[in-house]
Amino acid sequence: DLTDAQTYMNQVYESVEIRNPNEKEFLQAVRSIFKSLLPVFTKNPTYMEKGILEQLVEPERVITFRVPWVDDNGMVKVNRGFRVQYNSALGPYKGGLRFHPSVNLSIVKFLGLQQTLKNSLTGQPIGGGKGGADFDPKGKSDNEIMRFCQSFMTELAKYIGPDTDIPAGDIGVGAKEVGYMFGQYKKIRGSFEAGVLTGKGLGYGGSLARKEATGYGAIYFVEEMLKQKGLSLNGSTLVVSGSGNVSIYAMEKAIQLGAKVVACSDSDGYIFDENGIDINTIKQIKEEDSNRINEYLYTHPQAQYFDGCSGIWSIACDVALPCATQNEIDENAATQLVANGVKAIAEGANMPNTSEAIDVFLDNGILVGPSKAVNAGGVAVSSLEMAQNSMRMSWSFEEVDAQLQGIMKTIYQNCIIAAKEFDQEGNLIAGANIAGFQKVADAMMEQGV
Ligand code: GLU
Repeated sequence: DLTDAQTYMNQVYESVEIRNPNEKEFLQAVRSIFKSLLPVFTKNPTYMEKGILEQLVEPERVITFRVPWVDDNGMVKVNRGFRVQYNSALGPYKGGLRFHPSVNLSIVKFLGLQQTLKNSLTGQPIGGGKGGADFDPKGKSDNEIMRFCQSFMTELAKYIGPDTDIPAGDIGVGAKEVGYMFGQYKKIRGSFEAGVLTGKGLGYGGSLARKEATGYGAIYFVEEMLKQKGLSLNGSTLVVSGSGNVSIYAMEKAIQLGAKVVACSDSDGYIFDENGIDINTIKQIKEEDSNRINEYLYTHPQAQYFDGCSGIWSIACDVALPCATQNEIDENAATQLVANGVKAIAEGANMPNTSEAIDVFLDNGILVGPSKAVNAGGVAVSSLEMAQNSMRMSWSFEEVDAQLQGIMKTIYQNCIIAAKEFDQEGNLIAGANIAGFQKVADAMMEQGV
């Protein structure tokens, strides 16, 4: 019964805490998933007997490695590289690489766990993984980035392959870095294995619409969320944090659908433009010139720039899209958003809300779309990229975009159905965790220990 499941889950959680001290992001992700899964374990005690939870909280394999490289002054630098091969119940490990100074084991493990459930939600045949390095690409020359990527791949190549583990981009890793890593992998293997990495350039196996997929997919998901409440993006005001791939294409699609984006940010600060952000200027600054977002003011003097990132959540909006990084919305920011009348939050970044922030939103009846559902479009199209690579052909932008729309709608429906089945109607966080978990758990049971 319920007390049994609760006691069991508490015990498993305690052992996770003991085994992984100091891994605060990983423990945060585990707690949130456990909370959603309680009714599932209550109804299906088989999951307990088969030790599914104990297995899910332990990645299948964790690899850490030294990444030495030489900077432009001839100095040797050393970073730490990671690859967490989290779960392969549904397919080969799949998930991005993050290059950011904050990267550590806790962060890569939380991302790997989330990726496992996210990839399950996409309906594609992919397991979960994640990796990266505590390397800061900010301020590095192109040659330094190339040498770093080559050194990183020299080690990583031992553990990946098109049927084993397929990395892609994440924070700090875009098509350029994927290209350098692909080039190194090809030299090491002596063969052209297009399907070993996704997010590649369009000329050598990349998929049309992959660059746009995470942001566009997030907005397709938001439209479904709003529809349920009788609302729509048309005429809504949005605040979108971040100015990477996710944020830029979420803004672009939202604007196409008639929304007004009044603010966006980078890691230094944010801009507020009450006339609506001009997305082409943001693209020029970020994608072409690799400059800071305050340059927006050169061409749009009516806009305002503010230092620091958290202030962006004090701006009134109908829909908030945190697309920067984990835990960017805390209790205080959430309280401000609620006070200013926010109607929905959609997590473009992975785990951008602290657990206290989530409680604030849910206590006030605000819709929250969780990242493993909202941003699943990126990895879903990565899987379509793998499919095209296997077929040695490529689909049109429209074809991929249509598949992406179908996938996002299905994810939304599956979240709604799963939440309802386990008495948490309308709770998309619970729905995403449950729907993602069930497929992985059933596959794990069918494959044996
Ligand atoms: N890094 C992205 C994510 O968080 C995409 C991963 C991929 O395409 O494999 O889902």
